[in-house]
Amino acid sequence: MALDRKTSARVLREISRLLEVQNDNVHRVRAFANASRVVERLEGDLEAMVESSELLSVKGIGKGTFAVLEELAAGRKPKVLEDLENETPVGVRAMLEIPGLGPKKVRVLWQDLGAVNLGELEYACRENRLVELPGFGARTQERLLESIRFARHANERRLMNEAWTAATALEIALEEHPEVDRVVIAGEVRRFCETVDAVEMVVVAEDEDAAGAILGTHLSDVERSGPGRWIGVTGNGFAVRVHVVAPPAASAALVRATGSDDHLNALSRRASTLGLELCDDGLWQDDKRLECPDEEAVYRAFGCRWVPPELREDGTEVAWAAAGALPELVTTEDVLGVLHNHTTDSDGVATVGEMAAAARVRGWSFFGVADHSPVAVYANGVTADRLHDQWRRIDELNRDGGGLRIVKGLEADVLTDGTLDIPSGCEDGLEYVVASVHSAFRLSQERQTERIISAVAHPACSVLGHPTGRLLLARPGYAVDLERVLQACLEHGVAVEINASPYRLDLGWRWARRALTLGLKLAVDPDAHSIEGLDDVRWGLAVARKAGATASDLVNCGDIDEFLESRRRC
Ligand SMILES: [Zn+2]
Ligand SMILES: [Zn+2]
Repeated sequence: MALDRKTSARVLREISRLLEVQNDNVHRVRAFANASRVVERLEGDLEAMVESSELLSVKGIGKGTFAVLEELAAGRKPKVLEDLENETPVGVRAMLEIPGLGPKKVRVLWQDLGAVNLGELEYACRENRLVELPGFGARTQERLLESIRFARHANERRLMNEAWTAATALEIALEEHPEVDRVVIAGEVRRFCETVDAVEMVVVAEDEDAAGAILGTHLSDVERSGPGRWIGVTGNGFAVRVHVVAPPAASAALVRATGSDDHLNALSRRASTLGLELCDDGLWQDDKRLECPDEEAVYRAFGCRWVPPELREDGTEVAWAAAGALPELVTTEDVLGVLHNHTTDSDGVATVGEMAAAARVRGWSFFGVADHSPVAVYANGVTADRLHDQWRRIDELNRDGGGLRIVKGLEADVLTDGTLDIPSGCEDGLEYVVASVHSAFRLSQERQTERIISAVAHPACSVLGHPTGRLLLARPGYAVDLERVLQACLEHGVAVEINASPYRLDLGWRWARRALTLGLKLAVDPDAHSIEGLDDVRWGLAVARKAGATASDLVNCGDIDEFLESRRRC
C-alpha cells in the first residue's frame, strides 16, 4: 500500500487528539501533532523515507511517531490508534467532529459530565448542564446545541418533535400554492411515533405534474418514484415522501399513507370479506369506486369507527373500532396540571414564580415543582435549607394563587441501594416525590429491578420518573424487569411517568399500554427546565394516546389532592 502524506498526517493528528482526550502526557500529545504537520509538508517520497529510515533524521519525527508510519506503510492499523479507539467510546470520538469542540472540551464533557455520545450531550445542553461547566457557558452551550442538531441530521431516524416541525413547515409552504387543494401530514409523524424515518404527506391536486414541480421549489433531490409518488429532501436533511392524489382518492390515500403495515393488514383482512379494496386511487368495491368524502367514510365502509391516527399501529385497534370499543383518548384540554418540573432552585432556567405564571397561562390548576435532590450535584440538587426556602416562596405564591395551586415535590434520585435521596427533615413537608434513576445504569437486571422496586415502596414516592432511563437515538434504557416494576407500582399506588421530553418519551407507548392494562395511573410530565419546556407535555400526551389512555387514566386530569392523599394512605 502506497503511503500517502495526507492519510498519514490525518492518522498522526487523530492519535494526538485522542491522546489529549485521554489526558495523556502533554509532550506525547504535542509530538504526534507536530509529526502530523511535518509529514503534511514533507517533500519527497514518504514511503521510501520510511523504508530507508531516513525519516528518523527529519526534525519533528521521533521513535514513537516513526513507528506509527512504519505500521501504516506495512498496511496495518497502528496499534496505538487501535488502543486509543478501544479506550474512547465511539460517541465521544464523534464529539471531536463537532465544530468548536476540541479534545480538551470533549474530555470535560466525557469525564466530568458523563456524556458518551451526541444524544446524551444534546440532552445535557437542554438541561443546562454546560452553563456552569469550566470552559463552557451559556453561549457555548447554545452554539453546541445547534452544531449537534446539524450533525445528527446525518442520522437516519429523527425525534418526533423535529420531524413534526419539519412536516408542519412543509405543509404550510405547500398549501400556499393555488394548484394544491389540500395537504395532510401522514405516516409516522401523524401517528406520533417516538422516532421517525421520513416525513410523509398526502398532497391533493388535480394535476400531478404541476404538484411535482411545486415540490421542487421546496425540496431538493425531488424525484418521481412511481405513479403519484414523489420523494425529496428538506433543507435540513429530512427525507420526504409525498403521495400526490386527485380529490376523489384523497381519503383512501390518506388512510393508506398514515397506517402502519399492521394496521393496513388488519384492514385488508376485513376488506376481503366485504369485497373491498383499499388502493392509492380510492376505495373500490367490485369495479366501483366508493365515494369517501373523508376518512370516517373509509372506516365506515369497513364497518369501523374512525380510528385516531395515534392508534393505527399494531392492528388490534381495528378490532376495537369494529366493536365500537375505541377508547375516548385523552386530549390537551383534559390536562389540569403536571408534576415533574425544575426551577432555578436546581437546574432550570426559570424561577418557581415564572414557571407557575406560565402554568396559569396554560390554564392549569396545579403545578408540581420537583427539583433535583442533593446527590445530583451536577444539577445543583437542593439541600434541606434550600428546599425549606423554596416552600416559603411557594406558600407565598399560593396565598394569591389565582386558581393555581403549586404543589411541593422533589425529583429524588434513587440511590444504588434503592433508598431515596430525600434531605433529612423534609419528608413531612413534601407533598410528593418523583423517584428517578440518574446513576448506576450498568447494574445487573436483577439488582436494578430490586433497586427500583424498593424505591417505589418508599411511602413518599408518588411517581416513578422516566422508568427505563432511555434517551431516544442516544442510549437504550438500563436492564430492568419492567413487568415486575409495574407490578410494584400497582401494589404501592405509585403512578408511572410518561416523561414527555421528546428526547426520552419514557415510558414508550407499548409499556404505557401494558401499565394501563394492569390498572396503573400514568403521569404525563414535561420534566420542564424552562417555560418552553412545559409545552413538551404534548409529546407525552401523544404517547399516552398511542397507549390508549383516557383522561381518567392520567393523574394530570383528575383531582391531584385525591391522588396524592391516596398514595399517602397506601
Ligand atoms: Zn430525571
Ligand atoms: Zn427531571
